Amino acid sequence: MRPVVIAHRGASGYLPEHTLPAKALAYAMGADYLEQDVVAARDDTLVVLHDIHLDRVTDVATRFPGRRRPDGRYYVRDFDLGELKTLMVHERTQADGTPVYPGRVSSSNEVFRIQTLAEELEFVQSLQAAHGRAVGIYPEIKRPEWHRGEGVDITPQFLGVLADFGYQERSAPVYVQCFDAKELRRIRHQLNCRLKLIQLIGEDSWGESSTRYGPLRAQKGLDRLARTVDGIGPWIRRAYRVVRSSGNIHSTGLVHRAHKAGLAVHPYTFRVDELPEGFASFDALLGFFVDDLAIDGLFTDFPDRVVQFVRRISR
Ligand code: CA
Repeated sequence: MRPVVIAHRGASGYLPEHTLPAKALAYAMGADYLEQDVVAARDDTLVVLHDIHLDRVTDVATRFPGRRRPDGRYYVRDFDLGELKTLMVHERTQADGTPVYPGRVSSSNEVFRIQTLAEELEFVQSLQAAHGRAVGIYPEIKRPEWHRGEGVDITPQFLGVLADFGYQERSAPVYVQCFDAKELRRIRHQLNCRLKLIQLIGEDSWGESSTRYGPLRAQKGLDRLARTVDGIGPWIRRAYRVVRSSGNIHSTGLVHRAHKAGLAVHPYTFRVDELPEGFASFDALLGFFVDDLAIDGLFTDFPDRVVQFVRRISR
């Protein structure tokens, strides 16, 4: 089986992340799945944005200068959908306003806007209807615990929107992803969701959830995860190590252990303009993960490059 290509926030290496143009481009490039990150607005509408903050990808600071919180950040949760719709989305910047990826499209454009989860799913279905090629969705529930602290339980609403668009059965072309292990157990065992689920595995220091990730990478943790989820989305750097003396790349065994537990493995994030340590080229990186580790899918900002690579595989 060749691995599935997940367009990470759309074809985000080419157009501003999570905008509909970036999703359309990823579809045209042949991605198997389009990713949505989901956060709640003040009026509880679910919108597609990666951060709970707005300041790194929109012009919120110039349009609503008085609306920052004491920490200096602008929160999606503090704006109604109507206000979010007035913002222009741009390429991701750092705190000082410089681009995170200097080689990417930098011009701001009124075409790039924020859409709701429902609007995006409608758009995806209309792409499929018009062009005939099926594409899956890969939505992530962002920071469910943080959202509850803000007075909104986003998970049931999120599953409701998916159901509205026909994503309900195990066979539906969707993977639901979350960093929060407790939330995934709730989704599977209390909310009785039948959709395919992916446990994202990050670093504790990122503060994505209160989940401790170290134990999840061990065989026992992976075996236990398999009672709830269908696969894991590990950070690329936890799947291999670089031998200092030789520069050789070795597996950490994580992918093997996950496969042994019966879990699919979809690592993140494969970027042409941000190669991880130890790899001289994007194809060398893909070669190691796809050919040597035999991963089942991958998140990439450059779906065209990965589609080209995996199409040559006949296994
Ligand atoms: Ca994500």
